[in-house]
Amino acid sequence: MFPPHRTKRPWQGKVEELPQDNRPEYDPKCYLCPTNDRADGDVNPNYKESFAFKNDFSALLEDTSSATLNDNDLLVAKAERGICKVISFSPKHNLTLPELSIEEITKVVDLWQKEYNELSAIDWIKYIQIFENKGEIMGCSNPHPHGQIWAQSDLPVEIVKESNQQKKYYAIRKHSLLQSYLNLELQKGERIVYENKDFVVACSFLGGLAV
Ligand SMILES: [Zn+2]
Repeated sequence: MFPPHRTKRPWQGKVEELPQDNRPEYDPKCYLCPTNDRADGDVNPNYKESFAFKNDFSALLEDTSSATLNDNDLLVAKAERGICKVISFSPKHNLTLPELSIEEITKVVDLWQKEYNELSAIDWIKYIQIFENKGEIMGCSNPHPHGQIWAQSDLPVEIVKESNQQKKYYAIRKHSLLQSYLNLELQKGERIVYENKDFVVACSFLGGLAV
């Protein structure tokens, strides 16, 4: 549902300050810069490209017990095991991902692949998400260019819902939902931002209406 009058409301959204332009190339207080101390007592190597390590403040832990709770099928909970990693995209504190060279970005993608392959080889890992939180409002207060990886023992609820819906669509139409959606967007051409022979970038249907 998308109420059209919503675009007329006065709220203009939170405007986040851009990181200061005078960030130094190296910040001695940054836990992601090369050679600096980290919270768990480790010291970053003097890395020259992208660099991955286990998050010192991991939201998910490997040694969490496998406790479950089920009270009358109403109060249901299950402990979740996981591995959280941080990937510094560059040793330079004052850059962002799009400011890196193609060669440097390729190294970041290579590291994503390496980490994904290593984590997926662990038998209890069932789901891996590679992402970047950017800006303080997203809970990211360090301007050093970096992203995260969460690998965990169960599928997140939203992923289960999406998979079930895709399965349902396929059972009825004998076509993949995502392929059908891509074909429709390409045919309409209204929300395509960019396309090449390998990728298509499109605004979502509701996102398109909201703009
Ligand atoms: Zn830094």
